[in-house]
Amino acid sequence: MIIDLSWLLDHPREIQKFHWQLEGENSDLDGELARFQDQVEVDLTLTNEGKYIVGSGTITTVLGFACGSCLEWYSWPLRVEFPLQLCDEAQNQGLEDEDFIWYHDNQADVSSVVLENIILHLPLRRVCQDPCKGLCPQCGVNRNHEDCDCQEDETDPRWDALKKLL
Ligand SMILES: [Zn+2]
Ligand SMILES: [Zn+2]
Repeated sequence: MIIDLSWLLDHPREIQKFHWQLEGENSDLDGELARFQDQVEVDLTLTNEGKYIVGSGTITTVLGFACGSCLEWYSWPLRVEFPLQLCDEAQNQGLEDEDFIWYHDNQADVSSVVLENIILHLPLRRVCQDPCKGLCPQCGVNRNHEDCDCQEDETDPRWDALKKLL
């Protein structure tokens, strides 16, 4: 995702918008447990503030996660807004790298910023519904969809024999 700032740099105080529509569908995001389920839309609105180019970005997509409890895939819409600050690499004088995206020959690559912001907003707890009933530990059915006759606290018959001795 390369942006060309040539026009904006020639127009102080002006605003320029950038838009991408990326084919993210079905590509893995986080190993095998998360993937894109739709296109990734990225919008940037940037203003030429003189020394810096500042603005904001928006990422919109649908992610899919494997439920941590029943393992079934579910959809999770994502919308992330983030601030942006770009600075000419030639004027890099002691500025902290992490606060800026550097541009070089009027061009900047925003791919890693976009990916970072997606990863930063991934939920830590991934469940298809709350509460997810999970899988039956005995017969393995997905208890969100069907009931089974397994006893919740069925004890091992060998314990019964042992109990008789005590
Ligand atoms: Zn689940
Ligand atoms: Zn069962």
